Amino acid sequence: MIPAMPLPAQPRRWQQLWREAITDPLELLALLGLSARAADLLPATDTGFPLRVPRGFAARMRPGDPADPLLLQVLPQAAELGDVPGFTRDAVGDLDARAANGVLHKYEGRALLVATGSCAVNCRYCFRRHFPYAEETAAANRWRSAIGHLRDDASVSEVILSGGDPLSLSTPKLAELADALVSIPHVRRLRIHTRLPVVLPERIDAEFRDWLAALPLQKIVVLHANHPAEIDAHVIEACTTLRTAGAVLLNQAVLLGGVNDDADVLARLSERLLEGGVLPYYLHQLDRVAGAAHFEVDDARALDLVEALRTRLPGYLVPKLVREIAGEPSKTPLQRIDASMEMTARIR
Ligand SMILES: *Cc1c(COP(=O)(O)O)cnc(C)c1O
Ligand code: SF4
Repeated sequence: MIPAMPLPAQPRRWQQLWREAITDPLELLALLGLSARAADLLPATDTGFPLRVPRGFAARMRPGDPADPLLLQVLPQAAELGDVPGFTRDAVGDLDARAANGVLHKYEGRALLVATGSCAVNCRYCFRRHFPYAEETAAANRWRSAIGHLRDDASVSEVILSGGDPLSLSTPKLAELADALVSIPHVRRLRIHTRLPVVLPERIDAEFRDWLAALPLQKIVVLHANHPAEIDAHVIEACTTLRTAGAVLLNQAVLLGGVNDDADVLARLSERLLEGGVLPYYLHQLDRVAGAAHFEVDDARALDLVEALRTRLPGYLVPKLVREIAGEPSKTPLQRIDASMEMTARIR
């Protein structure tokens, strides 16, 4: 008898879809029936941060609309060019500096692992556009040093996987980490920050579901959707799968001019998320990275928008408006500086 050959490793379906992502801006525009000029396409230059968008996400864009809110998040545009004061390549410098062993431990009780630098989509407003990361991450043969750090610090009860997108790692690779986490008695919660269930919902396949369901930790998945049109039936299905595997689902969004700086849009986003069993968590003010200035929304307007949401929606559908300020011990909530508070400050 001829012994059976081992099966060649088949890429999983989501990995196949990942590889088939659109990377040519002209192809994307052709699919949408748009001209480069109408869409303000960035003339071909090497930005070091090319277009990348899964086909399923592109299918949710409205053909013929150069202002489509999903398109604007991914298309390299001429508006990115030019220096704007305050917008730097190193807007989250401390993050990069501390990522050496992949562990960022700046908030009490929580340690964040930069699991990988990869994402299925390149979002134009992301600080990641200036950090290709190489393999400076916790996963690159380095779970070991990350795990060592976590094991030695009994104050850490929650491990946050971030990136990049941690779900770009294969499920067996995630399982390797999780097994080590489970063996650390003081780690009780695993939180995963990911945009993949939104941009490539096929990632939440049976293999992943079964792994997550069996994981003996409290599980929190923080999704990243910015606009209700991102959430189609496949995304809702992925959310349902995550919930039935025992995860608590939250969403963080980034406030983006021209994309979601509108009370109607934000209200619909919250309601659509709830249909997937996802509660809005944070609405972030933009990180001030070079090339993203055209997305900025000023603080006064951001506060007005959240105020409008508060009057229209139940409290649990109103996200917290925050900004990341390097060196602060938590995310910083945005607050209106009202006259009476200023007065108190002066008297003191
Ligand atoms: C945002 C962040 C966290 C998590 O903060 P929460 O307010 O708990 O969501 C943890 N570590 C780092 C480095 C962060 O930037
Ligand atoms: S880290 Fe998140 S926001 Fe940044 S490019 Fe990846 S998916 Fe987009």
